[in-house]
Amino acid sequence: QQQLIIVDRLKKYFPVKTGLLQRTSGHVKAVDDVSLVINRGDTFGLVGESGSGKSTLGRTLLRLNDKTDGTVQYQGQDLHDLSKSEMRKLRPKLQFIFQDPYSSLNPRIRIGDAIGEALIQHGLCSQEEVDERVAEVLALCGMSSYHMDRYPHEFSGGQRQRIGIARAIILNPDFVVADEPLSALDVSIQAQIINLFRKLQEQRSLTYLFISHDLSVVQHLCNRIGVMYLGSLVELGPRDECFSKPLHPYTQALLSAVPIPNPRVKRERIVLHGDPPSPVNPPTGCKFHTRCPLAQSKCREETPLLRHHGSGHYAACHLI
Ligand code: SF4
Ligand code: MG
Repeated sequence: QQQLIIVDRLKKYFPVKTGLLQRTSGHVKAVDDVSLVINRGDTFGLVGESGSGKSTLGRTLLRLNDKTDGTVQYQGQDLHDLSKSEMRKLRPKLQFIFQDPYSSLNPRIRIGDAIGEALIQHGLCSQEEVDERVAEVLALCGMSSYHMDRYPHEFSGGQRQRIGIARAIILNPDFVVADEPLSALDVSIQAQIINLFRKLQEQRSLTYLFISHDLSVVQHLCNRIGVMYLGSLVELGPRDECFSKPLHPYTQALLSAVPIPNPRVKRERIVLHGDPPSPVNPPTGCKFHTRCPLAQSKCREETPLLRHHGSGHYAACHLI
């Protein structure tokens, strides 16, 4: 399997500014030493509570943010080392889909122009061809060409997400980060959009990083998953391994809250107490120790490393 994206010890810290003088008083460690590999053809599901750093990781992976430290390689090139113009050339290959595409659509621009504008900007197509290409990609995304002349407010949430997807897909990307693309949609619409993601993956040989807090969706769609807690990856592995044999106590707690369709299978719900601590000055040692039902004194002092436990399954916990 070809390794498409290699993330090595990536960090993204944001300064926290306080007081009248806006002095830096600490850092939000949004992504704190994350390493992972995404293979070509993967749908890699990134899960975790809100504030765990999933979106920041997704953005930093695509160099929509600067990094603080570490590297991100795409086909052997270190993305954060490229010049602005080199990155611009590569940009069509590395696309981002937002949770709410409405917020990224200008209300006064026809959606045909909104979808086509990047093609022109990147010099991928002449003005004459744009409408044809837009109509083609709209059809692929389940919309018709008469939608081109309409404005964003005329569409439903599901249609807007199709427009957001069309806008990313028209550039013919290789790797797409989709950040909670379903969470603003009704469940019935979610299924349609999941099918669209699948269809596009087959037809366009896409590799996805799919960010979600909904484990049922991830179980359905993804072949590998990573679990984040307070900026760190605590578990990583093939989907079936992670769902049937979760290793990390945090993953076990998250999974225990997912309803099982078979009523004869009983799973005990593990309730975590409290909210995740602040990512500014996170807990020492294992960051999960303040909420972990199995925490021991060692957990407060020593940071567990992400270790391999066979079959491509990794977890960071002293007890396993
Ligand atoms: Fe819990 Fe300790 Fe494992 Fe962290 S290292 S998950 S606190 S048992
Ligand atoms: Mg987010």
